[in-house]
Amino acid sequence: MSQTPISKLFSESRPLLSVEFFPPKSDEALDELVESAEELAPYSPDFVSVTYGAGGSTRDRSAKACQLLRDEHDFNIMPHLTCVGASRGELAETINGLYEAGYRNIMALRGDPPKDSNSFVVAKDGFAHASDLVSFIKELHPDISIGVAGYPEKHPEATDLATDLRHLKTKVDAGASFITTQLFFDNADLYRFLDQAADQGIEVPVIPGLMPVLSIKQIKRIASLCGASLPSELETHLNAAGDNAELVRQIGVRWASEQLQDLVEQGLPGVHLYALNRSDIATELMSAFRSTEPTT
Ligand SMILES: Cc1cc2nc3c(=O)[nH]c(=O)nc-3n(C[C@H](O)[C@H](O)[C@H](O)COP(=O)(O)OP(=O)(O)OC[C@H]3O[C@@H](n4cnc5c(N)ncnc54)[C@H](O)[C@@H]3O)c2cc1C
Repeated sequence: MSQTPISKLFSESRPLLSVEFFPPKSDEALDELVESAEELAPYSPDFVSVTYGAGGSTRDRSAKACQLLRDEHDFNIMPHLTCVGASRGELAETINGLYEAGYRNIMALRGDPPKDSNSFVVAKDGFAHASDLVSFIKELHPDISIGVAGYPEKHPEATDLATDLRHLKTKVDAGASFITTQLFFDNADLYRFLDQAADQGIEVPVIPGLMPVLSIKQIKRIASLCGASLPSELETHLNAAGDNAELVRQIGVRWASEQLQDLVEQGLPGVHLYALNRSDIATELMSAFRSTEPTT
């Protein structure tokens, strides 16, 4: 698959399937990524995204992971990029490098504040908001398709959803082609977000992000970091499963599969899987996604 701007894929009027990888930190983790990519290649994701670590710490590792996924599986790649610790000049160098390497998609993000702080630190001659990065990429390469982050339960720093959506609209107006959402466990939160986004005049496609629960500890930590709430019904099932890790995994995957099926039935333009480089969870959810497709 050549590197295709994702904005073009939406015109095919079918739900898209995307999956997220993170750059491995060790040889062992690299094996996990390779194995996971091999197992999910047969499900033909429409694109795969590769995250970018704080402070540019994973810049080289992100680039290597993108290259590997592209060389080995010919995936359509969406590298992520954040404003953390980078000046305009450094960002331009990274963006131009991605463009010259043939990539035509970028997920443009601000990045997180430093640990133990609520406020983001703007790098010297850098950007304060993801919308600035979107405008910058558009100026450099208007043919890059840009994704931005949306938060069904609002971004943790935002005072309320309406304010957060006004900022999301700024990112769209700056040139974002689509929105991928933060993970959520209750589709009602997503539908409320979509209604309010439409009220604000946001018209680009929104791809909901799903992550299955793998352990109670893991999900409570992730949910508190990103502001996602755990529905009491799901929490009750998980608590009943106690220390039975396999049962917890099954509950998590079943819950996410049901969310996925409902989202496809409601006509969402795609589904994004936070698969944590784990082929076991990714393949089950991709299989659930493919089973929603009409047979010909
Ligand atoms: C799909 C997805 C992928 C992600 N991938 C990565 C990754 O690869 N690497 C990584 O480090 N992090 C990643 N993140 C996390 C992300 O970096 C954090 O959530 C970060 O805190 C906010 O990034 P943003 O791009 O949403 O920022 P912004 O859109 O800039 O928003 C951040 C906050 O500032 C507010 N805001 C925005 N514009 C303005 C303005 N003009 N004036 C005042 N306030 C404003 C917003 O309401 C929000 O509260 C990802 C998140 C998602 C949902």
